[in-house]
Amino acid sequence: MEKKQAEELKEKLFHKKENGWNAKTPEEKQAIFDYAKGYMNYMNQSKTEREIIINSKKIAEENGFEDIENCKSLKPGDKVYYNNRGKSMYLAIIGTKPIEEGVNIIGSHADSPRLDLKPNPLYEDSEFAYFKTHYYGGIKKYQWTAIPLAIHGVIVKTNGETISINIGENEDDPIFTITDLLPHLAQEQMKKKLADGIEGEDLNLLIGSIPFDADVSEKVKLNMLAILHEKYGITEKDLLSSEIELVPAMPCKSMGFDHSMIAGYGQDDKICVYTSLTALMNIENPEKTAICLISDKEEIGSMGNTGMESHVFDYFMSEILNKLGNNQANLLEKVYCKSKMLSADVDAGLDPIYASVSEKNNASYLGRGVGLNKYTGIRGKSGASDANAEFVAEVRRIFETNDIRYQIAELGKVDLGGGGTIAYILANKGMEVIDCGVPVLSMHAPYEVTSKLDLYEAYRAYKAFWKNA
Ligand code: MN
Ligand code: MN
Repeated sequence: MEKKQAEELKEKLFHKKENGWNAKTPEEKQAIFDYAKGYMNYMNQSKTEREIIINSKKIAEENGFEDIENCKSLKPGDKVYYNNRGKSMYLAIIGTKPIEEGVNIIGSHADSPRLDLKPNPLYEDSEFAYFKTHYYGGIKKYQWTAIPLAIHGVIVKTNGETISINIGENEDDPIFTITDLLPHLAQEQMKKKLADGIEGEDLNLLIGSIPFDADVSEKVKLNMLAILHEKYGITEKDLLSSEIELVPAMPCKSMGFDHSMIAGYGQDDKICVYTSLTALMNIENPEKTAICLISDKEEIGSMGNTGMESHVFDYFMSEILNKLGNNQANLLEKVYCKSKMLSADVDAGLDPIYASVSEKNNASYLGRGVGLNKYTGIRGKSGASDANAEFVAEVRRIFETNDIRYQIAELGKVDLGGGGTIAYILANKGMEVIDCGVPVLSMHAPYEVTSKLDLYEAYRAYKAFWKNA
């Protein structure tokens, strides 16, 4: 065969994996950059799951969504949401087809790795005041020292009053930090394994150093409580019923000379929350009921009544069936078994500096579009929800006919580690599910990196799924 013919054959038979930017027109690039601005703005106002729900509810209401609790009945085209304790949320647009034919779900999670305050956090040592923390999710502890941290969360008083806290984000706000040892005196620390370099019990937040002006013990602690009492009307005991999270006090920003990337905290998995939410806002009268899940507690196993393992989602679905006026025994199970889902969670992007953990043929690359994971799991796919080939083919067809950049990958080399998402929870209910999210560098670090191209392709992919699945 001639070389030219062989080249043509290669062109026809090979799966080409191309940089997505090459094919984008100047207009498309502009659309990508414009969309990314909206994302960065949303991220800078939504660093915790509670803030995600507040801002997402606002967006939903502006787009005509109503609290399902206030709806007596539902009909095709109706837009509803259920706010689960301000930490997770389910949204739906009722489809024109009978719900018995199944629904199309896209599900992400709003929680991200962080440091939570302990129930009894405040103490004084050597005339410094500190908050003790307990880390949340899979972090590399050394990454959380010597960076600016902000305090976000709620304190709930016994009279039911909820005080919202957000300090460290505005120009005039103070920030907080966890100190680390100077290299001059770190000989012993530097010999330790990276995992042991910083102990969990040493992740103590430095919050103040001026003593209260009186002759009592623990004067710095007293001064902190006096400030908190004046500002919020709380006592030390009120911290017992609080949920306070320390998050990086660093804004989400455009990255690189070419502005091609985004650096910011919590992109796992708020990037999939934003892309799916904004996709849903741009869907009108879908055939199948379109459902958007924003779940909580994914980073610590999806347990509890705001996690995806809870039955609150079943309650939301039952309410839809009730309010459509056609609920009956076993209908919910039938709907689930006919439903399809994209588990919208981030994927590990190949990092050339750490390429040895990835298998190049089966890694996600930044800039090549949305990443599908047929399965996750660890050690021989253990714990994985393995998407059926028939469903993978359907998702491929939807993406290919809508010219959406996608890649199918694994999370790292075989036996090197692994992970999971909420995919298995919904798959266990009987749905077809595949993981479909955005590749990330430095995942779970205080500052994660994504590509604006992948961000936009995720938005387009989710919209196409709801319209065509
Ligand atoms: Mn995630
Ligand atoms: Mn994660």
